[in-house]
Amino acid sequence: MSKATILVVEDDPSVRNLITTTLKMYDYNFLTAGNGQTAIMQTASHNPDVMFLDLGLPDMDGVDVIRKVRTWSELPIIVISARSEESDKIEALDAGADDYLTKPFSVEELLARLRVSLRRLPLLRAAAEASPVFTNGGLVINYPAETVTLDGRELHLTPIEYKLITLLARNEGKVLTYPYITKAIWGESAESEMASLRVFMATLRKKLENGKGSQNFIQTHIGIGYRMLKVDAGDAEHKEES
Ligand code: CA
Repeated sequence: MSKATILVVEDDPSVRNLITTTLKMYDYNFLTAGNGQTAIMQTASHNPDVMFLDLGLPDMDGVDVIRKVRTWSELPIIVISARSEESDKIEALDAGADDYLTKPFSVEELLARLRVSLRRLPLLRAAAEASPVFTNGGLVINYPAETVTLDGRELHLTPIEYKLITLLARNEGKVLTYPYITKAIWGESAESEMASLRVFMATLRKKLENGKGSQNFIQTHIGIGYRMLKVDAGDAEHKEES
């Protein structure tokens, strides 16, 4: 893969410099924007691979930058928010952001989130030619047959568990918020559905934990939601040997 280009949207020069210095050190290309309008223009004219987006910008709300960009682009957007902006972060994820970093964050965290987003790029590009079979490590979902297998063994899922796993799989690598999931599954996001979601998610994860590699397919983001992680196929094979 050619060098990825990262757009860094941040009005605070010290945070912006921390990010760009890190990107430079790891040989990524980058662009910067100090406000929302510039961010939108840079995205349109340079088509970056990933965007780091501060939510508190001088000219407009970061969430509005996401809404605008999402009208034509699916590029991964990693939101950067202060701890006091917890509700903004959830709003940003609902508006189509993929992931988030909370200030203060470490360079390692920044790079880890970036790698997750970069791994999603081939998936995003292939999304146009959607496959009827989803594969992630030992997990296989056959959409037309409505079957889920783990290491070749069929999992007996309830209809709700099946809906949950397919929703997470279609959004692999992306953090889905509790309201987003409950709305997709039950059509509404009342408190009672939040409680049901936790119960169904617990039983689903139990069924997923019985694989040979026992890979962690579903990551919990406490107070926010869940994400399906891309399991490295190499890891899975390695584990099968042991
Ligand atoms: Ca700011």
